[in-house]
Amino acid sequence: MAPSPTDPRPHHYLIEHLDPEISPWSTAEYASIANETHSTYPPSSSVSSTPSKTPYFILSSVPPSMQLPAELQQLQTRGMVSVEHRSVEEMCWQEGEKGEGKLWRKERVCLLDPKAEKELEPKDGEVFDAFLFGGILGDDPPRDRTSELRCKGFPTRRLGPLQMTTDTAVRVTRLVVASGIPVDQIPYIDYPEIKINKHETTEMPFRYVKDERGKPAMPEGMDELIAKDSDKGFAELMG
Ligand code: SAH
Repeated sequence: MAPSPTDPRPHHYLIEHLDPEISPWSTAEYASIANETHSTYPPSSSVSSTPSKTPYFILSSVPPSMQLPAELQQLQTRGMVSVEHRSVEEMCWQEGEKGEGKLWRKERVCLLDPKAEKELEPKDGEVFDAFLFGGILGDDPPRDRTSELRCKGFPTRRLGPLQMTTDTAVRVTRLVVASGIPVDQIPYIDYPEIKINKHETTEMPFRYVKDERGKPAMPEGMDELIAKDSDKGFAELMG
């Protein structure tokens, strides 16, 4: 997929961490977001890279008492993720406010929301400075925990009708706003079967981007995590 950049200005990608812990699944998802937002601009599903220096990925609402997994600590040290104790709301300012120490105007932050009325479009790259996602593991059926962010009143956009993992949602957003590809023209793989051992597969109840090998794009190490946890059952794992 050839990237055709429409917006030379990189955006910030904000993940508001909403789970009580940072599980190995979330760690793998966050690490892949850090790597992709840091190393490839504009994004493409191929490996070409133009290194950037700013962390475009901000992980917010991480309680000070929460122990960051070693992998995320390393990414933080390398400037690939900025870990914030503040919530995204506390980092935004609104019309009429001073905005001191705040990073974005609230109306220029877009929440990616599976229940939004409007689909995300390439031109939204000019409308918004930052894109906000729920740092929640997907669940099946979806429990709509994105509502915890929806109630804060950010403008919202949808990425098509199917539930994606958080890293997929970031990947798709970047393909739309930075590479200019409409959301319905991105190649996807829905509900892929993942091999968990020689004889068994398990179905992932999400939509993924199809990568250049024709496989679902997933964080490194995800196959092993899926295989390891598959016998626990997804409901328990993701609940
Ligand atoms: N089961 C969930 C969805 C979690 S997916 C829930 O309870 O809401 C994690 C995040 O990815 C969501 O908070 C949202 O920001 C983003 N996301 C996933 N699929 C999306 C879609 N189809 N449209 C817009 N955003 C999506």
